[in-house]
Amino acid sequence: MLTTAEHTFDDFYLSDEMRRALDAIGYTRPTKAQVAAIPLILAGIDLILQSQTGSGKTAAFGIPMIEMLEPVPGRIDVLVLAPTRELAQQVCNEFERLGQFKRVKATAIYGGTSYERQYEELEKSSIVVATPGRLIDLCERGKIDLSQLRLLCLDEADEMLSMGFRDDIEAIMAYLPEERQSLLFSATITDEIKALGNKTLFYPENVLLSTDSVASVDVAHYYYPVRGVGRPRDLIKVLEYEEPDSAIIFANTKDDTFMVTSFLKRHGYRADVLNGDLPQKEREKTLAALRDGKIDYIVATDVAARGIDISDLSHVINFVLPDSAEVYIHRTGRTGRAGKKGKAISLIAPNEVATFFQVRKMYSVNLIEQSLPTPVEIMKARQRRGLTRIATQLESRKDLPYGAHMGIAEILLNEGSEGSELDPVRTVARLLAIAERVQKGAPLSAAVEAAAPAAPAVTTEAPKAEVKKAEAPKAEEKKAEAPKTEVKKAEAPKAEEKKAEAPKVEE
Ligand code: AMP
Repeated sequence: MLTTAEHTFDDFYLSDEMRRALDAIGYTRPTKAQVAAIPLILAGIDLILQSQTGSGKTAAFGIPMIEMLEPVPGRIDVLVLAPTRELAQQVCNEFERLGQFKRVKATAIYGGTSYERQYEELEKSSIVVATPGRLIDLCERGKIDLSQLRLLCLDEADEMLSMGFRDDIEAIMAYLPEERQSLLFSATITDEIKALGNKTLFYPENVLLSTDSVASVDVAHYYYPVRGVGRPRDLIKVLEYEEPDSAIIFANTKDDTFMVTSFLKRHGYRADVLNGDLPQKEREKTLAALRDGKIDYIVATDVAARGIDISDLSHVINFVLPDSAEVYIHRTGRTGRAGKKGKAISLIAPNEVATFFQVRKMYSVNLIEQSLPTPVEIMKARQRRGLTRIATQLESRKDLPYGAHMGIAEILLNEGSEGSELDPVRTVARLLAIAERVQKGAPLSAAVEAAAPAAPAVTTEAPKAEVKKAEAPKAEEKKAEAPKTEVKKAEAPKAEEKKAEAPKVEE
């Protein structure tokens, strides 16, 4: 669980403005990272905090930093360095939300946007969230004054180092006053991180939130051993079997992201590509499409996916395992966020086992083996989900008077067809077909007709009041109402039955 039961925000004696902001955002309890970090930061201590993505770390430094500010527009008091534009923008947005009642202005500084607008914004801001490259550029042009800085935060410091920002970070330090408070957040604490900490922090306190495992506890890890050839087809088998609501599929190269995306599209999936070749605008459009449910999958490289915040991703899929265990931890940290359960799935070919063993050994992640599903298993999984979906929808109809039908159901299920012509499986199947069509908005009479040939007598015996209710279905949840395949199915019931009998993947 992300938030803690034992602590509340009262523990930190926050200002009224901050409490109102937390209420407005909807944060009711602090996360573990926040409980660990907020009091230490408020006490003025330098901190190295190991925390995984999705732990609420942005607010863990955002809340105390804003609390400590006495904003003078145009005087930069707080600087956050982040590895990517996406993360910089997100952190900036979080600062603006947290500082909305204190009227603290934050600005994001990153490459690819107009200098003029950034200069204008700087004149009104107290907080700067920047990527190292563009910030050093502004420092060298003399367009930003960091001499009054009080607080520095290096966010996702391990990512910044792995992206080659070490020299830029060190160069930026020269523009900062020596007397300041510094924080370093990182998912993994390596020797390199410690060295960076020693250079930039003053007798820092080390806070390790989970020493045995940095992998999110809310993520279940599975892997499918594959041969390596025919991997795109294996991926489709996994997608057919799992039917993830939303996923990032990671590839190791840009070429692979394009190849996998077009393969998925050709097979009717709503997928798009996210890699460094795409302009910033395109990337933002793709992310928005995933958030709005217009697409289900993003096929991404690590660089493009760094720092993006999509909190209700149900799955992270490794089309290929990355070269390092740390990258695996980062990738899979994109699901299981904010207390939700997530699933990480990896296709592993024999030449990728090194990373696999590292992940197990270094991070104590329990990866569970699964074998690629057969067509029958895919069909069964789909049927099980279908049953759950219909049953859940029916259960939500609290007003349906079905008591009188209980006896009939018992006879059908317990005595079956004994002594009668009735085939219980077919009868239930027809009833389910009727229920599903009615749920989707078909009038009851049409639904019964569609389930013919011999619609069972029970449905025609349904009392009038019941028929009326069934004819006016409630607006169902978006996904339940029209998942991609379902729409097709509803439009062409014949084809659907075919698909259920023989999933496509084996073609
Ligand atoms: P982060 O680790 O900063 O990327 O945060 C991960 C997600 O947790 C974000 O969507 C935040 O909005 C959310 N979050 C942060 N703090 C809390 C909190 N105290 N309660 C609930 N959600 C939170």
